[in-house]
Amino acid sequence: MTMKTDMPGTVRRRISRCVRVGNVLIGGENPIVVQSMTNTDTVDDFGTAMQVAQLARAGSEIVRITVNTREAAAAVPRIVERLDTMGIMVPLVGDFHFNGHKLLSEVPEAASALSKLRINPGNVGKGAKRDEQFARLIEIACRHDKPVRIGVNWGSLDQTLLARIMDENAKRSEPLDATQIMREAMVTSALESAERAVELGLPADHIVLSCKVSGVQDLIAIYRDIARRCDYALHLGLTEAGMGSKGIVASTAAMAVLLQEGIGDTIRVSLTPEPNGDRTKEVIVAQEILQTVGLRAFTPLVAACPGCGRTTSTYFQELAQDIQSHVRECMPKWKLERNGVENMTLAVMGCVVNGPGESKHANIGISLPGSGEAPVAPVYVDGERFITLRGEHISTEFKKIVDDYVVRKFPARQE
Ligand code: SF4
Repeated sequence: MTMKTDMPGTVRRRISRCVRVGNVLIGGENPIVVQSMTNTDTVDDFGTAMQVAQLARAGSEIVRITVNTREAAAAVPRIVERLDTMGIMVPLVGDFHFNGHKLLSEVPEAASALSKLRINPGNVGKGAKRDEQFARLIEIACRHDKPVRIGVNWGSLDQTLLARIMDENAKRSEPLDATQIMREAMVTSALESAERAVELGLPADHIVLSCKVSGVQDLIAIYRDIARRCDYALHLGLTEAGMGSKGIVASTAAMAVLLQEGIGDTIRVSLTPEPNGDRTKEVIVAQEILQTVGLRAFTPLVAACPGCGRTTSTYFQELAQDIQSHVRECMPKWKLERNGVENMTLAVMGCVVNGPGESKHANIGISLPGSGEAPVAPVYVDGERFITLRGEHISTEFKKIVDDYVVRKFPARQE
């Protein structure tokens, strides 16, 4: 495995083959790509296009949609057309299971419209039909010149392959335990399927691999192993991560370790949204993981202290939230107009204990008065005391300082 060393911080990334997915490059020396998946009925081309647009606007660089029926396949070109009309150029990936070979044969327009196909070697077909249907899918990908993600999932692991590995294991002098067998079966399924796809004519730089499980330690062990055994681009993600903080923590715990070791070329955070919840949360979390690890910058980060007995009100929490929202709202415009603005750092602190120190480390920091302190809020810009705010309009005045700083410090992009 080759490593490259010219990445920010201390991360040395594994060098993988570069795969083009529409207008996005996965692997090679390219930035780690954020992707997401819709949860709309694909047959509803309007609703699906709207959610894809929402995910893309939130920062998803690739969006996957389910293609499970003939009607869903027929809807794919309409979805792409709607996105074109909206000016959304995000590549779409079709997620196929069981009947993918049939759908893509019957609706070739879907294969043309998609930028990548995702297939699961564990459920492309059963028994003798498995190899034939896998071959048909690969042949369709070759004909349309589309890359393929071979996505192994523990929940649908190829049972024939698992039985074979168990048989082989029984003959070993020191047999593997059940966990090791499962991990080996996942990796073998991905690697053997990739090998078969290459034999069938799919170029190696048209292949992305994933091996998703729901256990953090399993995911880390499996990806370490597969990263060592091949140079295919790797899609990273913990499957069935769960809801809310549990899903976020589990995904972060697993992916941060692997990303720190340079493993992973594209990530998806599989969060279960609250009923009618915001699907874009998974995009924000994926971006925050990459930014926190120091691999990419998407939006200025706001550091805020947690508050303690020295804070007498929730004002500083409200201010931190207000600033974070302001930055997120301004970011689409700033990003278009200002080079490097995503690297800006802000700090909102609750008192003088750590306030001035933390503020000096940020590009712009404010230290609000804690209990018993004078009702003033010193603001630091690039480590120097800039102004002291007081009164009822601290929030508005601080946001104005941020806006002015962006204009002053980040050069306007040239057309
Ligand atoms: S900065 Fe001040 S208010 Fe914030 S946690 Fe530290 S001591 Fe408490």
